[in-house]
Amino acid sequence: MKDDIEKRLDKRPSEHPQRPALKEIPVREELLPRTVKTPDGQEIRIDPLQDYYCQAGPTVQTPAYTRIIEDLFNWARAESLWILGFGTGCGAIEMRPLMTPRFDAYRYGIQWRPTPRQANLFVISGYLSVKTLKRAIRSYEQMQNPKYVVGLGSCTINGGMYWDSYNTIKRLDDYLPVDLYITGCMPRPEALLQGFDDLKKLIRAGKAEGANQYAEHFEWYKANQKKVIKDWDMPDYSW
Ligand code: SF4
Repeated sequence: MKDDIEKRLDKRPSEHPQRPALKEIPVREELLPRTVKTPDGQEIRIDPLQDYYCQAGPTVQTPAYTRIIEDLFNWARAESLWILGFGTGCGAIEMRPLMTPRFDAYRYGIQWRPTPRQANLFVISGYLSVKTLKRAIRSYEQMQNPKYVVGLGSCTINGGMYWDSYNTIKRLDDYLPVDLYITGCMPRPEALLQGFDDLKKLIRAGKAEGANQYAEHFEWYKANQKKVIKDWDMPDYSW
C-alpha cells in the first residue's frame, strides 16, 4: 500500500521535470464571429459574444428617495433574503438543514431560488475552484441589484485547507465583493442563521454595499478574475 502511494506521488504532474507549459485555451468555435445563412438565403454576420449578451457595465446605485423611504426599502430588502441555489463546496451541505423544520430559515424571510434572476443573495459555500469561479461570476452578474454576497467557511477567507491548492482561489474578495463572512470549517446551521441576522443588520443600516463596490472598482475585479481564469470566453459583464 505504502509503495503504491509512493509510486503515485512520483507521478504527480507538478513534480514531473518535463511537465509541458500550460497553454491558453482558445475561445470555443461557436463563440467566434462568423457569417451564417438564413433559411431564405440571406447572409448575416453574427458575433455571439456581442449579440447574445448585454455588455453594459454595472452602475453604482445611489439612494433615489428620502432617508425614511430608503430605510423602509432597506428593511424590506433585509427581510427577504433570496439565496441562489448554487453550492460551491462542502459548506453547501450546511445550508440544507436550514430548509428543514428544525432550523426553518423560511420564518426569517430566507429562502432559496433556482435562478440568479430571482435571487438577491449569493452564498459562496466554501472552496471555489477556478473552474467554478467562472460560473460564480456569471451567476453573480446576472443577479439583479440590490444583491449581496456571503463567504461561508475559512476557504473563502484564506483558502482554508486548500491554501496551497493549484486550482482553488485563496481570497474570495479579490474576485467578488463580499458583504459578510461566516467563519468556521464548516460553520454549523446556527452560525449561518447568526450570519444572516448580521447581514440583515448591515442591509438595514445601508452598509451592505458590495454590489456598488463591484461597480465602482469593476476594472480591478475584472483584472483579478482574468489573471486566474485562462479560458475567458465570455463578455466582461454579462447580466
Ligand atoms: S471551510 Fe471547510 S467545510 Fe468549508 S469548504 Fe472549506 S474545507 Fe469545506
